[in-house]
Amino acid sequence: MMAPLDQARWPVLEVSGLCVDYGRGAGATHAVIDVDLVLHRGEVIGLAGESGSGKSTLAYGMTRLLRPPGRITAGKVLFRPDPSQPVSSLDLLDLGIEELRQLRWREISIVFQSAMAALNPVLNVEAQLADTLAAHRPEMSRRARRDRAVELLGLVGISADRLRSFPHELSGGMRQRVMIAMALALQPQIVIMDEPTTALDVVTQREILQKVIELRDTLGFSVLFITHDLSLLLELADTIAVMYAGRIVEHAAAGQLLTAPRHPYSLGLLRSFPSLHGPRRELTGIPGSPPNLQSLPTGCAFHPRCGYAMRQCSADVPRLAPPPGSPMRLVACWLQDGRQDRPDELARPDELARPEDAAGSRLASAAAPAASDREVAL
Ligand code: SF4
Repeated sequence: MMAPLDQARWPVLEVSGLCVDYGRGAGATHAVIDVDLVLHRGEVIGLAGESGSGKSTLAYGMTRLLRPPGRITAGKVLFRPDPSQPVSSLDLLDLGIEELRQLRWREISIVFQSAMAALNPVLNVEAQLADTLAAHRPEMSRRARRDRAVELLGLVGISADRLRSFPHELSGGMRQRVMIAMALALQPQIVIMDEPTTALDVVTQREILQKVIELRDTLGFSVLFITHDLSLLLELADTIAVMYAGRIVEHAAAGQLLTAPRHPYSLGLLRSFPSLHGPRRELTGIPGSPPNLQSLPTGCAFHPRCGYAMRQCSADVPRLAPPPGSPMRLVACWLQDGRQDRPDELARPDELARPEDAAGSRLASAAAPAASDREVAL
């Protein structure tokens, strides 16, 4: 008899070998290079990295939302909607325009950074929610759409008397909540959030993130959360994928990344902001600037900024692989290939990730599994 499927570990989206360029030929910018990533049912993956590291391009490439001159040059993006059908999967990169349109919002939705730009300024909240429902569920009656709009607003903590409000009549936090309500309207399996709280004050930001985690716990969707703010991801995400120059350079459970980073760039990011909850950190930042993606440094693209660079680093690109003694995380660094003496700060034991450091534990409900219990899919 087949073992029962572990729905919580079901890989709902599998990205492999994804490459995205802007432009063509010798002048092309390689914005995403050979990315592999697995998003499980109910998981929150945080995508971290400085501006221009490829985070948003990766998310838009995966969902075919890239605008020209962005184009996917290689890879697969398998969406596995049904855990009861182990062989069923769709490659999003092979779908036609109409199939994609059906899939968006129903299965994969997105919350953009600027709700003011994403919402229609001349439609009230009810009309915007009803439009989304009408486009994908034409069989719904007007009354049913209104009831669903009220229900969706309630989910994100907005009272029904706001249905008649226009976007400019709402606070920034409320507009972002409306965007989240719209993203959840059709009960998608995956919600992509692209810097959804960046423009908000810290208190509102925290309230919204708390709400996202509550809804994830209740509804079971998966989240790909993009932000340059690593400290925010350490509070929110189950696992964090750190990007640099178009590649994922480390992917680990958030608690592990916080207390035991393996990649010098992750360590540099952690040393760029003060710790609110974890151990005290020396604030040193990262020297230099991100590279020009049109002429990347040879070998490891981080080598001109890396204080640990060796001869090999400028010659060969390190592969994303589990480092010694840490089979459940991935890192792309020659220091971690098992042949080098690693500095103490990049070789801390994984067990140093304490329960209180676990991602999501400060925001998630007690029912959610601790991130330190999870691992990165290999
Ligand atoms: Fe630094 Fe070399 Fe590791 Fe790149 S591969 S992060 S240059 S030590």
